Amino acid sequence: MSQTYSFFQSVERSFDKAARFTKWDKGLLEQIKACNSIYSMRFPVKMDDGRIEVIEAYRVQHSQHKSPCKGGIRFSDAVNQDEVMALASLMTYKCAIVNVPFGGGKGGIKINPKNYSTYELEKITRRYTAELVKKNFIGPGIDVPAPDYGTGEREMAWIVDTYASLKPGEIDAAGCVTGKPISQGGVNGRKEATGLGVFFGIREVCRMEDTMKKLGLSMGIEGKTVVIQGLGNVGYHSAKFFREGGAKVVAIAEYEGAVYNTNGLNEEDLFKHRKATGSILNFPGATNLANTSDALELDCDILVPAALENVINKDNAPRVKAKIIAEAANGPLTPDADEILTAKGALVVPDMYLNAGGVTVSYFEWLKNLSHVRYGRMEKRFRENKNMHILMQLEELTGRQVSAEERAAIMRGADEIDLVHSGLEETMISATREIMDIWNANPTIPDMRTAAYVNAINKVANSYMELGIFP
Ligand code: NAD
Repeated sequence: MSQTYSFFQSVERSFDKAARFTKWDKGLLEQIKACNSIYSMRFPVKMDDGRIEVIEAYRVQHSQHKSPCKGGIRFSDAVNQDEVMALASLMTYKCAIVNVPFGGGKGGIKINPKNYSTYELEKITRRYTAELVKKNFIGPGIDVPAPDYGTGEREMAWIVDTYASLKPGEIDAAGCVTGKPISQGGVNGRKEATGLGVFFGIREVCRMEDTMKKLGLSMGIEGKTVVIQGLGNVGYHSAKFFREGGAKVVAIAEYEGAVYNTNGLNEEDLFKHRKATGSILNFPGATNLANTSDALELDCDILVPAALENVINKDNAPRVKAKIIAEAANGPLTPDADEILTAKGALVVPDMYLNAGGVTVSYFEWLKNLSHVRYGRMEKRFRENKNMHILMQLEELTGRQVSAEERAAIMRGADEIDLVHSGLEETMISATREIMDIWNANPTIPDMRTAAYVNAINKVANSYMELGIFP
């Protein structure tokens, strides 16, 4: 008899599947799985028409093996405690995999933001923040929220302003939340971080000889055919970096349909076309696919679902032809689809680490807030002067002068955006290698997702042991 599991129970199941490949004590594994602190709250807010509405909201701190906790705040009428607990635990594992030294957290407010005025949303967000302050559930060293579904820079600006006004004199107040506007302490490079992280992760997989051999693919990202679902933040930026990296984005799907061109699509032109006409269909030079989900079944090397959860399920998974499934969205595959694709010999690169670019750059934002200086400020000019000196010496020794274009490229010292991209690239390359090393060392591990969980469990367990709480 098939059993249904809640979201949190499904996460626990994936955890248990991976825990079998670790050596840790059962009690320690139970502690890692558990949500440490759950704050379920109700607060009243006066609406524009004078009515008082009771708002249901949550903040869950899954693990404090590292401080602070980190995870987004979701505004959705589907929010419930189980969902927030599941998302908080996934944050613990995600942070561990990409070596971001935070515990996992997540928040949620059970509202559909479309049903509220801007003023009402501001009051709800500020009151929620005040509730978190009262219970010591927010702070640069305690718990640091970020945007998630239904929230963005605007909400983060309200949060930091509320926090700072309730904590006068707290010098690190800006670090109480990430995903802020640049003018409020945000960091350059946050917007494209998840799509760029997806690209860095997949590029690294494509550089692994054994993996490519098993998949029957040539080495490297160049010339690979890519299909992307979703032209939102993650899909657009994934398409951009895959194209710039030499891959061919042959199809892009949106909810109104998909477009296909074997010579490759330019995501920026497509974005403009969609803005001008209201649809991605009828894009010059491309073929329309009226049924958007057909795009998932196109012949290609890499499929990037970057829209919604559960889009590949037991019905369409047998028809998916891609060799690599890059889980840019959260949970785009159902567990059935995951098994079907793995059995077919495809490589599913799991969401838990592949879309960790956002939290990685959030970590850089938090570091920037604590250091009170933007990245690059101290070294940019020093580096440019040094480069100039080296170049002049080389020109003198060789008797040749480089072109003005080359001169500018050699001279340039790093700006904040360069350093953020570089940190993200290093993070995604290391995380990919660590997971693959674990998988290669134990071929009985069935898939890359389980290998990623094993990596996370080992790191969190090691932290607990280092804390010495198990005498
Ligand atoms: P978004 O809202 O900017 O973009 C999603 C896009 O998917 C929209 O353009 C939407 O029209 C399109 N879409 C919806 N249904 C579709 C369908 N059936 N077929 C094709 N396209 C469809 O959201 P986003 O920020 O790009 O997030 C996408 C996914 O990535 C989500 O699962 C999210 O949880 C995950 N994610 C996002 C980030 C981030 O930094 N934004 C980080 C980690 C994970």
